[in-house]
This record gives sequence, C-alpha cells and structure tokens, in this order.
Amino acid sequence: MRMKTFLLLLLVTMIYGCSERYYTEEDFPSVLKIDSHIHIHSDDGVFEEQAAADNFLLVTLNYDNGDPSYIRDQFNYAVLSAKKHPGRVFYGPTFFFDTAGWGTEEWSRKVIDQLDKDISEGAITVKIWKNIGMTVRDRSGKFIMVDDPGLDPVINFIKSRNIPITGHLGEPRNCWLPLEEMTVDNDRNYFARNTQYHMYLHPEYPSYEDQINARDNFLERNPGLTFIGCHLGSLEWNVDSLALRLDRYPGMAVDISARTCHLQYQSARDRERVRDFCIKYQDRLLYGTDIGYTAGDDPEAFKTRMHDTWIDDWKYFATAKKMSSPLFEGEFSGLQLPKKVIDKLYRENAVHWYGLKL
Ligand SMILES: [Zn+2]
Repeated sequence: MRMKTFLLLLLVTMIYGCSERYYTEEDFPSVLKIDSHIHIHSDDGVFEEQAAADNFLLVTLNYDNGDPSYIRDQFNYAVLSAKKHPGRVFYGPTFFFDTAGWGTEEWSRKVIDQLDKDISEGAITVKIWKNIGMTVRDRSGKFIMVDDPGLDPVINFIKSRNIPITGHLGEPRNCWLPLEEMTVDNDRNYFARNTQYHMYLHPEYPSYEDQINARDNFLERNPGLTFIGCHLGSLEWNVDSLALRLDRYPGMAVDISARTCHLQYQSARDRERVRDFCIKYQDRLLYGTDIGYTAGDDPEAFKTRMHDTWIDDWKYFATAKKMSSPLFEGEFSGLQLPKKVIDKLYRENAVHWYGLKL
C-alpha cells in the first residue's frame, strides 16, 4: 500500500513537474510574445490585428532596397503603426546608401541628419542591409563591405544614441552553392527565380567567407556596439559556427527570422545539438519571422499564413511533437525548450536587446 501511494505520488509529481517545466501547444495564445523581425508596409492594421489575436508584439524593420522614396514609405508606415499601437509595435529605420557622395564628409552628415530625426521619433534600432557587401560599390567599382572605415561616422553616431544596429549582412550559405546542393527548398526556389542574387553564378562577387569575415571584422572594430544579426547572423547552416561568434562577440545577438527551417534541418540530423545550442545561448536568440504585409495583399490569406507560421514555430520550439517541413525531406521532433528559455526567445531577449518599454 505504501509503495502504491509512493508510486502514485511520484507519478503526480512527474506529470505536474512536466506541465510546469514546458509549455504546451495550448499555451500559445496565453503567452505574450514578440516577433522581432517583420515588415509592415500598409496602414490598414491587418498585421497588427493578427498580432493582437495571437498575443504578439511586433518589431517592424525597414530596409534599403535602393529606392529612397520606398525607404521613406516604409518609415512612415512604421511610425504610423507604432503611434496607433503604442507599446505593441516598435520600429527600426534604415538609411539610403547613396553611393554618389560615398567617402565624403557630406555623405555621412546627410545620413546622420536623417537618422537623427528618425531616432528622435522613437526608433529602437537602425537596420543595415545586405546591399552593403553585395550591391553598393565605390568609385573604383570595389564592393563596399560593412567593415569599411567610411561607415565609421554613421556607426559611431548610432552608438552615441545608445541603440543597437540590426544587420542583415550576407545571405544564407546556400546562396553560394549550386541549386542541387542547397539544403532547403525556399532558398532553392528563391535563387532559381532570382539568379541575379545567386552568388554561385557570380564568382566575381564577394564570397560567403568575405561576407562573414567583414561582419566579424566590423564587430571587432566596434566592441561597444550592440548588434543584432538577422537570420541567425547568416550562420544559419551550422549552430557551432554561430556559437563561435556568440562566444567571441558578447555584444552580438541574433534573430531567427526566416531561418527556423535551417534549425529544423539541423535538428532532423542531430536534435540534441540544436537543442543544447538554444539552451546554452538562451540569452542571445530573438524569435522572428521576417514576414511582410504590403497594402494590396490579400488580408485573409496573410492572416492565415501569419497565424500558421507562428503556431508551427511555437510547436517546434516549445513542444516535442513530431513534425515535417515542406522545405526539406524527413521528419524531426520539436525542441521542447524549457519555459524559461521560451520566455527569453519569445519575449525577454527582444525586450533586453532592443530596450523595449512595454
Ligand atoms: Zn527582413
């Protein structure tokens, strides 16, 4: 009898302990979460509505596609959304990289003047993009990399305003591989369609290693800088390579946006390695999706896609469910990260690294 009671108690403790330690799929709506990398390019409130329904706060990031008026549009949408949804939407502007005056004092002054205004409106970060390293060139035709000293005045200005830089630099390593060697179908499809960005076809462009080295050197040269590397810091293919950088650069965190499939791809091969990585670097990872919504998009289709992505990602990180991805062959199990790791990944790290006032 005693033994039976003991076993029963043990069982109850185990079940209770489990439900305490891990979130379930059903916990998804009740946990306040932050998607720290999205793009709102509309004023109709559709993105914000879905975020509220799924208990998400949003960080909308602007990027420099080379068109200054598009950059201003993105910024205006971001500010409008943040004003309409105080404490629920935050934003990071960017600047137009005008190569015309590059290298002059005038160039830096113009960028800084613009950023000064944008930051004063309430920006939480400044976003830099892959055009640095992959598109913009100096007068001699040389690619301008992120560690170029010509950027120093702008970087120093951002540092002086005590906000981080968010950087999407380089591309997934797949970009430098032939289509058949790429690990996931979204990269394969994207680069098959956008051959101008498929670096395997353009050996005259900087290599993958050049991109990573320039970013590393940039961090080396700016030890006081807080830097959030988008898309797992373009080291999405290998958690060990990313771990090396996180060890080396204490001011660096990364968002997971648009690269969850790469973690899944690795966990299909070695789940514990990915899980251990997420636990060890639990203070350095920010959840994000990189999904965008543009005026004119189908609102219902968008909402479904957004909701499904958020739910699928939650299942992967929070539960141990068996899953598969449309992006690669094979099954994998969710990481079932402990509650406190999920809270950091999904909220606390964004609050900390972006200095959000909730
Ligand atoms: Zn993005």
